[in-house]
Amino acid sequence: MERIKLISAPRTMAVKRRDVTACLQLTSLERFMLGTTGHSHRNALRIHTPSKGQVMKMGKLRKILLFTVTSLWLSATTSLSYGQGNFAGVELTITLVAGNVYMVQRPGGGGNIGVQVGPDGVLLVDSLFAPLTDRLVAVVKQVTDEEIRFLVNTHIHIDHVGGNENLADMGVLIFAHDNTRLRFFEERSRFPRAGGSFVPAQPAAARPLITYNDTMSFHLNGEEVRAFLAPPAHTDGDSFVYFAESDVLHLGDVYRTTSYPIIDIYNGGTLRGTIAAIDRAIDLSGPNTKVIPGHGLEVVGRDELVEFRDMILDIQGQVLSMIRQGKKLDAVMAAQPTAAYDAQWTDDPGWGPVDFVPIVYYELGGSGRLADR
Ligand SMILES: [Zn+2]
Repeated sequence: MERIKLISAPRTMAVKRRDVTACLQLTSLERFMLGTTGHSHRNALRIHTPSKGQVMKMGKLRKILLFTVTSLWLSATTSLSYGQGNFAGVELTITLVAGNVYMVQRPGGGGNIGVQVGPDGVLLVDSLFAPLTDRLVAVVKQVTDEEIRFLVNTHIHIDHVGGNENLADMGVLIFAHDNTRLRFFEERSRFPRAGGSFVPAQPAAARPLITYNDTMSFHLNGEEVRAFLAPPAHTDGDSFVYFAESDVLHLGDVYRTTSYPIIDIYNGGTLRGTIAAIDRAIDLSGPNTKVIPGHGLEVVGRDELVEFRDMILDIQGQVLSMIRQGKKLDAVMAAQPTAAYDAQWTDDPGWGPVDFVPIVYYELGGSGRLADR
């Protein structure tokens, strides 16, 4: 299987949208160590040239609208989803994870950003919300004077792509898996909480410019940075990002320290993929690997991933056995298959057993109506 590499340009040769093709080279036969992703087609990388005129024409208005709508949406959902109120007074922090890699967090630890720094420039993993971009740029400046050049989106959710348009306006190149970019074209973006709520579609300028269907590598700041598709877990476009020399793994929202796995069935997430994705992260992790969760304040390691995976397997096993006994969802819920774990995995008030167990139940073949909840 071919893999695609983005060869880092010399520092003096800034990569712009127009000449990015000059910096792309296809290399062959370097199969990624984690095995197949379930894709049998050949690897491919796509460069999506934005219609600059169209983008610029609507840019400012869209930004204002996006800010307004996002703010309204946030204030409407904040008690469930974020607990941050609005963004006034929100201070971002930046902490060293290991090697070249830092983590930017906001209070409560939502939408954690990976930041790789060095003489070749800055690569970000995820972009938080649009109103926080200035603060994101400022906090990155606390650790480096180099410019932000690249952004990888781990998935489509607004708390991970909200800053895209602002960063694109600064000349940052945005990368994501093909499936994640496709989600940008949906009229309204689905969000898993509250039974599948909606957020406004992102503007065209927020869309990833370069996409991959399997894996790609950046060669930046003295290390290989591998972004690759995980099995369909949180969504069907989840990317993990591994910083090989720093030995840091960003798992996006496939792994969170705050809740049971959020399996976004509206965006292609699955239970089976969640287990497979965590297995893959475990396989990749060594004894010193630092894991950045999508949400949660702690950086964890391999042991915590094993614990998370085993918890999911246990709940899955309990639910499956009840399905085999012919139990309907209400009986399964009443049996509380998550009881042993609720103390640890219910820090997120917007995602608890009432959200997680039905997804497990239906994916395992349970019958009944959602109204049975
Ligand atoms: Zn998410």
